[in-house]
Amino acid sequence: MRSAKHLVIGAGVHGLSTAWHLAEQGEPVLVVDKTAVAAGASGIACGVVRNNYFQPAMSELMAACVEIWESDPETFHYYGSGYIALGDGPQEADLTSVYQRQQRIGYASELILGEAEVAEHMRTLFGDWRAPGLSVCLHEAQGGFAFNRDSMLGLASKARAAGAEIAEGVEVTGFAYDDSGAVTVVETSDGPIAVEQVVVAAGPWVATLWELLGLPRRLEVAGVEQEMWTYWYLQEGEIDVDPRVFVTSNGSVPPVLHVDSHAALHADDGTLITDEQWGVYFKQDKRSVQGGAAPLPQGHDFQVDPYPTGSVEPGFPDLWCAALSHCMERFEGSRPRYRQVRSGGVGAFTADNFPVFDYMSPNVFVAADSNHGYKMIAVGREIARVLGGEHSALLHPFRYERFAIGDLHPVSNSPYPWS
Ligand SMILES: Cc1cc2nc3c(=O)[nH]c(=O)nc-3n(C[C@H](O)[C@H](O)[C@H](O)COP(=O)(O)OP(=O)(O)OC[C@H]3O[C@@H](n4cnc5c(N)ncnc54)[C@H](O)[C@@H]3O)c2cc1C
Repeated sequence: MRSAKHLVIGAGVHGLSTAWHLAEQGEPVLVVDKTAVAAGASGIACGVVRNNYFQPAMSELMAACVEIWESDPETFHYYGSGYIALGDGPQEADLTSVYQRQQRIGYASELILGEAEVAEHMRTLFGDWRAPGLSVCLHEAQGGFAFNRDSMLGLASKARAAGAEIAEGVEVTGFAYDDSGAVTVVETSDGPIAVEQVVVAAGPWVATLWELLGLPRRLEVAGVEQEMWTYWYLQEGEIDVDPRVFVTSNGSVPPVLHVDSHAALHADDGTLITDEQWGVYFKQDKRSVQGGAAPLPQGHDFQVDPYPTGSVEPGFPDLWCAALSHCMERFEGSRPRYRQVRSGGVGAFTADNFPVFDYMSPNVFVAADSNHGYKMIAVGREIARVLGGEHSALLHPFRYERFAIGDLHPVSNSPYPWS
């Protein structure tokens, strides 16, 4: 029977980063993926790398992740163009506390408060900025974006160069255990593999592996019974414009922009799109401008394959294009250029919408990032440390036990499960 000291299931950001760091420590590691490197969410993600999280533990982990992105921008196809979050109302307090924490942990950012001040800051960057009513701007000088698939191929090349083996087209179908509950053999479509340690990094497929491991589908969160997994469909698209249209006033690659607003949103012909709070994000892409808006809840059961799954709701292109035009005159009239491309996809969120990074059996570590994780390239480094017997202060807040003991993360005023 084939054997592997460390078997990693899934060749997305977490599996590849874990394999890279294990191999760098001189550990033998085999990654299996049922399809291929970057076949999952890491290969379809918008690629936004930001620190902006209301939860201290998320923010500290993201700062460590940005350091890794910055360590090799060429291999990771990473652009450190920064990130801007804009909002109004209750988001003033949230973004202010995020900014204050960033100052404490040494993460480079600037906070602008007041409608006139925010408008002026944005007009310095983009002369045609025109979004009204935004009263808070968190401008992160670090972070930015990377090209999803290219960055994963780069990460895979680092893992292989360090000595990791990556087997594509090999699906994990079951586990065999010893009396202590440790996994001894992993059943795959390519035959059984005897293992010492297993890392599950299966992205939106995590619920299937969770079930194969005999883990509970429902659990108590601070005394209230809940489903472990909820699927949300992330809607994304692009407009077919020359990326050079979306540059800053001095011609640089622009920061990723994320706008949440209560201002009434109208299409270019004046039709009202919505008078309720809306939110969008957008960035320069290789041949276009790409971004997304509110995710669609899909419930607790979802057929993940074939991936990426589903499509956007009918109103998404109108809302997203209207929001671009609402923000910048240069995007006026861009609705006919909207293209539904191979972007968008489903994510599996945990019971509290934050990651679970923990041992779920004596030798099985599960990386379930609750769909926060393309940017979380440092999680694999931390997992490799934990597998080597170290403690990870960065991963500790994401242990499974938090649900039972109620040691939960604070919740922000953002309308979405990702902030
Ligand atoms: C549309 C969209 C946009 C997003 N945008 C961003 C963003 O801008 N920034 C950000 O930080 N995050 C973003 N995310 C979230 C992010 O993409 C994910 O959280 C992250 O990529 C998950 O990485 P992963 O390694 O856990 O899983 P994945 O990248 O999904 O990799 C899992 C791999 O496991 C393999 N696999 C599954 N089951 C098995 C099995 N039984 N046997 C063997 N292999 C198996 C799959 O083939 C897959 O390749 C986005 C997500 C979506 C869907």
